Amino acid sequence: MTDIYWDETIETMPVEQLRQLQLEKLKASVARAANAPFYRDLGLKDYRIESLDDLSKLPVTTKQDLRDSYPYRLVACPLDEVVRLHSSSGTTGTPTVVYHSKADIDNWTELTARCMFTGGMGFHYAGEHLGCLTLPTGPGNTSRQLKFLKDFDVSVIHVIPSYALHLADTLEKMSIDPRKYLPKLRIAFLGAEPHTEETRQKIQDFFGIKAFNSFGLSEMNGPGVAFECPHQNGLHIWDETLKPVPEGQQGELVITTLNRTAMPLIRYRTKDLTHVVAGQCSCGRTHRRIARMQGRSDDMLILKGVNIFPMQIEQVLVGTPGVGRNYQIILEAKGHNDHMIVRVELDPAMFAGDLASLEKLKTKLTHALRDEILITPDVELCEPGGIPVAEGKAVRVVDNRPR
Ligand code: AMP
Ligand code: ZN
Repeated sequence: MTDIYWDETIETMPVEQLRQLQLEKLKASVARAANAPFYRDLGLKDYRIESLDDLSKLPVTTKQDLRDSYPYRLVACPLDEVVRLHSSSGTTGTPTVVYHSKADIDNWTELTARCMFTGGMGFHYAGEHLGCLTLPTGPGNTSRQLKFLKDFDVSVIHVIPSYALHLADTLEKMSIDPRKYLPKLRIAFLGAEPHTEETRQKIQDFFGIKAFNSFGLSEMNGPGVAFECPHQNGLHIWDETLKPVPEGQQGELVITTLNRTAMPLIRYRTKDLTHVVAGQCSCGRTHRRIARMQGRSDDMLILKGVNIFPMQIEQVLVGTPGVGRNYQIILEAKGHNDHMIVRVELDPAMFAGDLASLEKLKTKLTHALRDEILITPDVELCEPGGIPVAEGKAVRVVDNRPR
């Protein structure tokens, strides 16, 4: 191990050899996946894989498939080998669940360790695996976060970019010089939500640190799917297989797991839009790079790092008596924080009642929405016809956040 790689053999493996290894692992992964009822029913075991190109003949897997397979239809190993379950809230009440065996957890740790090796700590397991003192702190309570950063001489943080900007704002308001207050801070990993190169620059300049893009999704493992190396020029992706669009052309990132045992996924459609960065990176890693995410091909919104589908909001609204047909979701930036306003048209009858019943409805909607999407929106009640009706497809989401 030299001091710029975590697993030099794999990270710098000659491309030919890497493709061969991927092919072997792909065959094994497909064979394992075929044991899961979902893939068994798709007849996965009958697909022949002779080369990496054959990958494109395999069926794809979607988030909806994950929901439909709830609770166990995507588990490919005996249930008693599963040691961990991660779940996320679902759009229609059905959560998506992802299972991990002990080997999966170990592999995830290795992958994240590779991602942060040049950095330091951030993701819990990898941090500990690298021998770093690791401090998991939940979101919120900014003054406490700042105190910890200072008191424990934190050198590396993993943070959602909008929160990093919020920390910057807070320090600025307190007239604190970040470079004097946090002299040990060297690196930030920015992940969980799309952000621009300018945001990265802002964070780097304010804190006087290096900021690296870190990409992941819970359906894979979570963080550790792709990361930037010190060259900050595209994200190296570990378990890689992309839908074949020409290099440089934007497409949807489609990922096949190569090592997972509990819940292998074949050609999982992430809905994240990116492109392959041409050429080899000067860091010496041979794994392909993808560009910073350009957006998504579905209507999923990411607010404060939380994934939200407009359908979730619609479901709460239509299930509430007194609510009319039209609604609109407005996204704004409050300082550097994302903020959501939900404008709701009411039934005419609601306006015949008193003000108190309107207030009650507003509170009820706010709580119901918070329970569903985990973020507290501002609810605005409108009279019937109060929300402009689009000529064509309804414009449900108005995103006023600066890009
Ligand atoms: P989750 O399943 O909650 O981990 O969210 C995964 C989604 O968050 C991904 O599919 C992306 O849309 C988004 N995401 C995560 N990391 C990044 C990143 N570094 N840049 C842009 N989007 C990201
Ligand atoms: Zn590199």
